[in-house]
Amino acid sequence: DHGVTSQSFEFQEDPFFWKDHNVQVIIRIRPLNNSEMSLQGYNKCIRQDSCQSITWTGHPESRFTFDLVADENVSQENLFKVAGLPMVDNCMGGYNSCMFAYGQTGSGKTHTMLGDIEGGTRRHSVNCGMTPRVFESLFSRIQKEKESRREEKLRFTCKCSFLEIYNEQILDLLDPSIVNLQIREDAKRGVYVENLKEVEVTSARDVIQQLVQGAANRKVAATNMNLASSRSHSVFTCVIESKWESQGVTHHRFARLNLVDLAGSERQKSSGAEGERLKEATNINKSLSTLGLVIMNLVSVSNGKSLHVPYRDSKLTFLLQDSLGGNSKTSIIANISPSNCCSLETLSTLKFAQRAKFIKNNAIVNEDASGDVIAMRMQIQQLKKEVSRLR
Ligand code: ADP
Ligand code: MG
Repeated sequence: DHGVTSQSFEFQEDPFFWKDHNVQVIIRIRPLNNSEMSLQGYNKCIRQDSCQSITWTGHPESRFTFDLVADENVSQENLFKVAGLPMVDNCMGGYNSCMFAYGQTGSGKTHTMLGDIEGGTRRHSVNCGMTPRVFESLFSRIQKEKESRREEKLRFTCKCSFLEIYNEQILDLLDPSIVNLQIREDAKRGVYVENLKEVEVTSARDVIQQLVQGAANRKVAATNMNLASSRSHSVFTCVIESKWESQGVTHHRFARLNLVDLAGSERQKSSGAEGERLKEATNINKSLSTLGLVIMNLVSVSNGKSLHVPYRDSKLTFLLQDSLGGNSKTSIIANISPSNCCSLETLSTLKFAQRAKFIKNNAIVNEDASGDVIAMRMQIQQLKKEVSRLR
C-alpha cells in the first residue's frame, strides 16, 4: 500500500443548503495529477473524515468541518445536484445567488465552474461544469413555469454579461473594444458596471456561446497584455427578470446570479518584480487580500462587533458586495489538491474556507407588484378626499 487512503464516503444529495443565512462552503478535492504523483507518489496532505469533515495531516494536524467535502470521486453531475440545483431554485424564487470558486492555480476552479464547455451541455459531456449545468436547468425550469402559468401571462427576460478583473481594471469579455470600465452605485440600480455589454439569452446554448466567446477573448487579452489568466478574476452574471399578472396586478421579480472564478490564491512572489510587474503583483494581492479582509471583518460583525467592512477597497469586493454579507444566497467552492506538494497552499485554502463559513447573508425576494403601489396611491387619494370632505 502506498499510503493510499481510498476509504470512500457515500455521497449524499442532501438539500442542507441555505437552511440558515450563512454562506455555504464546499471543499472540492481534485485527483492527484501526474507530476504530483511522480514527485510525491500517493502521499497526501489531507485525510477525509466524513462527507463534511477533513483533516490536514501536517504538523500540527488540524480538522475542519464544512457543508460538504467532495472528494475526487464526486462527479460534476453530483456536485451540481448539491451546489448548483439549489441556486436554480433560488433564482427562480427571486433571490440573488452567487457561487465563488477559490483555490490555488491548478486546483480545479475553472474545471468546477466551466469544465468542458466546448462539448456543450450535460447531455454531451460528463466534464461540463457548474455554469453550463445551472443554465441548462434554469431554462428548462423557465419553460415549464411558462407552460404551467399561461393564464398569468408569465414571461422571462435573461441578460448576461461577462467581465474580468485584472490588475484592478475591468475588462468586458463580451466586447473587448470597451475599455476602462467603472463601477457605479446608485439607489435605483445598486452597484453596477457602467457601459458593460449585456446580451439577452433565451437558452443554455446561447449562454454557452457567450461563455465560449468570453473565454476566447480572455485568451486574446492574456496574450496581448502578457498576463496570466490565473491572475485575473472572471465574473459571469445573469439577471433573470419575470413578470406576471395576477388579480389585475402586474408582478415583477428579478434575481442576479453571479458565477465567479477567482484568481489563483497562491502567494504572489513580488520579490524581484519591478514596474508593471510589481504593480500587478500588489494589485492582484489587493483584490484577493481585500476579499480576505472583508471576510475577516464580516466574521467579527457576525460576532456582534461593529467594524468597517472595506468593500470599496478593491474592484472585486465592491462589485460583489451584495454576495458577501448582503442580499444574496452565496456558496463558495474551495478547490484543493490532495498532494503533499501543495500542503501549505491547501492549509491556507482550508483556513480561508473556514472563515467564510461564518459569513451571514440576508437574502430577500426581489419582488414588487406595481399594482400594489398603484392601489395604495388610489387609496390615499380616496382618503384625502374624505378628509377634505369632513373638514
Ligand atoms: P484552476 O482553474 O484552479 O487553475 P483547472 O480547473 O484549470 O485549475 O484544473 C487544473 C487541471 O486539473 C485541469 O487539467 C483540470 O482538468 C484538472 N482537474 C481539476 N479538477 C479536477 C477534477 N475534480 N477531476 C478531474 N480533473 C480535474
Ligand atoms: Mg482557471
